[in-house]
Amino acid sequence: MSIASSFFGQQVLNRVSFLRCSKEFVKKSLNHDSTIIIPFIEGEALISPEEGNLVQLSRSTKLYKNIISTIVPVYTTLLNTTQSRIDESGVNLTFLGLLENTDSTFDFEWSNISYKGTPYFGLDIRVTDKTLFKHHDFEPIFSFPKMTRDHIFKQTNADASLYAQGRMYLDWLAKYKFCPGCGSKLFPVDAGTKLQCSNENKSVHCNVRDAHVNNVCFPRTDPSVIIAMTNSDYSKCCLARSKKRYGDFVLYSTIAGFMEPSETIEEACVREIWEETGISCKNVNIVRSQPWPYPCSLMIGCLGIVEFNCKNEVINLNHDDELLDAQWFDTTEIIRALDNYTDGIRVPFRKDISLPGSTTIAFQLIKNVCENYKKLRTASSSHL
Ligand SMILES: [Zn+2]
Repeated sequence: MSIASSFFGQQVLNRVSFLRCSKEFVKKSLNHDSTIIIPFIEGEALISPEEGNLVQLSRSTKLYKNIISTIVPVYTTLLNTTQSRIDESGVNLTFLGLLENTDSTFDFEWSNISYKGTPYFGLDIRVTDKTLFKHHDFEPIFSFPKMTRDHIFKQTNADASLYAQGRMYLDWLAKYKFCPGCGSKLFPVDAGTKLQCSNENKSVHCNVRDAHVNNVCFPRTDPSVIIAMTNSDYSKCCLARSKKRYGDFVLYSTIAGFMEPSETIEEACVREIWEETGISCKNVNIVRSQPWPYPCSLMIGCLGIVEFNCKNEVINLNHDDELLDAQWFDTTEIIRALDNYTDGIRVPFRKDISLPGSTTIAFQLIKNVCENYKKLRTASSSHL
């Protein structure tokens, strides 16, 4: 089965996760001439004012030369230490992976295999008067505009996916400063992809440090389900309007919600569908997923196929307070809207009503219902 890349989910880099534990690899990759650093300021990436692209720093770019040459040598000595923590150094750094390229001048030998490519790092800057790095170390880029949601959806999927990976790691590093087992300071190891408890006092028990298996903290990912509801012949599609405001237009989309502990993906869908719309759905197919870096979600996209019997499909919004409206629409009407859509953050549907645009998993799920509808019609007409 081929893996279609969702927006934010393209794996641009080889993460070479097994190399992150090698201090030699991390030092070499951080200090190499070809290394690219994607800077964030207080958790948000930057855009270049001229082109509107995601800012990526390299040693060859004159403007940024001093930033990299100031930060990298100092930070290299801080690797795997409590001093590297954000309130002491002022920066968090995470290794993102290698952009594979056989002509690359960077290569690293590991178990007799050579790994070549351009190393990529994410760097989050949160400097104060008390931190090791100061505002003036980063002067040239503080004037750059920050990446907004309007900007990010205009980026290529490759850049948006690099952004998502960096943002999700750096947001986690900035938020998780203290050990959940004993309250001691956590510090990053494995190139900023795990956090370790700094408590060295063996007489003070820490159920994170002293655990046999998970003796580090891993980055957090919050799974949520997102569901397009349809019927068994795909001729109907249920879309809902949430209470969220979207400027001057009304958006009808799929429903979504966070998974709860000890729930399967399928059962989470059944619960969310019933809680939000009152619809009874017993047939759920997992379709595709999308990372969502606001701040650390993984959206698991599903189709909920509802057996129409004049009861199951009845909409009741009274269980919880999330939706303003939900309706069963004819799939043929949605197909017409999708056929007329070329690009943009939303699909014009009815007067004053839009559907989500192509960068969202909601769009992909709605499109999936439409494609299934067409396939079924083609198959049944060929049997006539
Ligand atoms: Zn601890």
